[in-house]
Amino acid sequence: MVISDCLLILLFWGANLDISEDFLTFANMKNSNLTKRFFLVCLLVASLTVQLQAQPSFNSRPKLVVGIVVDQMRWDYLSRYYDRFGGDGFRRLIDQGFSFNNCLINYVPTVTAIGHTSVYTGSTPAFHGICGNNFSIDGRAVYCCDDASVMPVGSDNKKDGQMSPVNLLATTIGDQLRLHTDFRAKVIGVSYKDRAAILPAGHSANGAYWLDRKNRCFITSTYYMTELPEWAKVFNHDLKNNEEFKRLGQDIGLSPEAGHITVDMAIAALRGEKLGQGSETDMLCVSFSQTDVIGHKWSTRGEHTDEAYMGVDRDLAKLFQVLDEKVGKGQYLVFLTADHGAAHNSQFMVDNRLHGGQWLSREVRADLEKYIADKLGNRQPVVEAIRDYRFYLDHAAIAQQGLDLQRVKDLAIEFLRKSPYLSFVVDFEKAAYAPIPPVLRERILMGYHYRRSGDIIVVVEPGFYEFGPWSSPVGTTHGEWNPYDAHIPLLFYGWQVPHGQSEAEVYITDIAPTVCSLLHIQQPNACVGRALKFN
Ligand SMILES: [Zn+2]
Repeated sequence: MVISDCLLILLFWGANLDISEDFLTFANMKNSNLTKRFFLVCLLVASLTVQLQAQPSFNSRPKLVVGIVVDQMRWDYLSRYYDRFGGDGFRRLIDQGFSFNNCLINYVPTVTAIGHTSVYTGSTPAFHGICGNNFSIDGRAVYCCDDASVMPVGSDNKKDGQMSPVNLLATTIGDQLRLHTDFRAKVIGVSYKDRAAILPAGHSANGAYWLDRKNRCFITSTYYMTELPEWAKVFNHDLKNNEEFKRLGQDIGLSPEAGHITVDMAIAALRGEKLGQGSETDMLCVSFSQTDVIGHKWSTRGEHTDEAYMGVDRDLAKLFQVLDEKVGKGQYLVFLTADHGAAHNSQFMVDNRLHGGQWLSREVRADLEKYIADKLGNRQPVVEAIRDYRFYLDHAAIAQQGLDLQRVKDLAIEFLRKSPYLSFVVDFEKAAYAPIPPVLRERILMGYHYRRSGDIIVVVEPGFYEFGPWSSPVGTTHGEWNPYDAHIPLLFYGWQVPHGQSEAEVYITDIAPTVCSLLHIQQPNACVGRALKFN
C-alpha cells in the first residue's frame, strides 16, 4: 500500500470517527474535533514510520552484484527445460525472482563480444565500439580483445594471453561501481572465453580471468596485474590434476565440464577476494561459454545441448549455495541473460518442411569479386573480409588500383541484390533512408560504427544462416536480427527484487541502467537503455 492510499483511508476513517464521551473524559479533552485530529496525526505518523521502515533507505545497496551470461541461450530454453531443471538453479531465479519474458537485442549483428559488452555497458556497437568478435579499425583487422602491449600472466601463452579491454570505448556497470566508490569496490570477471571475462568486467576491473586450454589453467594479463593472486595459483594447481580436463584436452569447451570449472573459478575468486564481505558493493561477472561451443557443434536440439543446460543448472545451484553462505540470502543481486540466441539447424528446418538453409558466404564472396573484376577490370580483390553478414571492402586496395570506392560499393550491392537467400542489402552509410523496415533500420544503425563495421550489411532470409568450411553440418550459428538470435532470457533475483514476470518488450541495453538504478550509481557513459520496473 502506498502512502497516499494510507492517507485517504485515514481521512475517511477520521471523518466518521465517533469517540465516546467516557473516553474523552478519561483523556481530559473537551474538544472532540481536536481529539480526532490528535489521533489522526498519531496514526499518520505511525503509518509513515511503518512505510519508511518497509522502504530501503535511498543509499542502501546489496553487498554483491553477480552478473551471469549464458552464451547462446535462447529465451525459450527457460520453458523448454523448466520441468527438467532442479529447484535451485534457473528455477530459483524464475520461481523466486523476476523474469522479463520479452527481452530483445536491439542491434545487429548478434554475436558474443557485442552481446557481452552491450549487457554491461547498456549500449550498442555504435557507441561502445565492440563491433564483433573480429572486426577492423580503420582497415586494420583486430580481434576484440587483442592488445599487443600486454603480456599473459599465469602462463606463457601469448596467443591467448595478450588481451585487454583496450578496444572498448565505453564504461561498464563495474567501471561505474568502481568510480562511485572511489575504486574501493572490487570487480572481477571469470569465463572460459577471454572476451566473456574481459569485456563485462570493464576497464577498471580488479581482474579478469579466462581459460588457457593449452596449459589447462586460468590466466589473466599484465593489463590487470603482474602475478596471479595466491588463490588463483592454488586453483590452477588443482585444475592441472582435473582428470576430465586431462581427458578432454583442448576440447573442454564441448563438455559441461567447462562450466563446472568456470563456476569453481568464480567461487574461488569470491572466496579469495572476499567479494561481498567488505563495506562496499562488489561485482562478479560470470559467463558460461561452453553452451555456445556446444550449440555451434550440435545445434539447438539433442542430448549434447540438453546436457549442457542441465550442467549450467547444477553450476548455478552450486554458485547460489555458496553466495547464500558467504554473502547471505537477500544480500546479493543476481541477473542472468544471454549474449544472443541461435537458429535451428538448417537441415532440421528443411527436414521438417520449414523455411531455412545455408548462406554460403565464401562462394558469394568469390562470385562478387568476379562480378566486380568483370565490370572494372581490377586484378586485386576488393573485399577485405565478410564478418557477421557485413562486407568490409578493402579501402586501401581499392585506392591503390585507382578504383572509386562508391562505384565498387554500388556494384557490390547490385550483385548482392540478385544473390539468393538475402532479404535486404544495405549500404551502411545510406541505412538511415534505405527502403527497409524501421525495426531493421534501427538495429542496423545501433550496430554501426563507421570506423569499425565495414561498408555493406546483408540480412539473410528467416531460417538461413552463414555456413562455411568451419561450420558443423549438425550445428548452428547466430548473428541476425530474428527472434531466434535476438530473444534472450532476462532474470533478476535477490536484493530488492520481487517475484514476478513481465511481458513488456525490453532490450539488452536496459540491463545495465536497471542494475545501476538499483545500486544508486551513475549509468555507464554510453548507456542508451532505460531502467526497468519490476511490475
Ligand atoms: Zn556468444
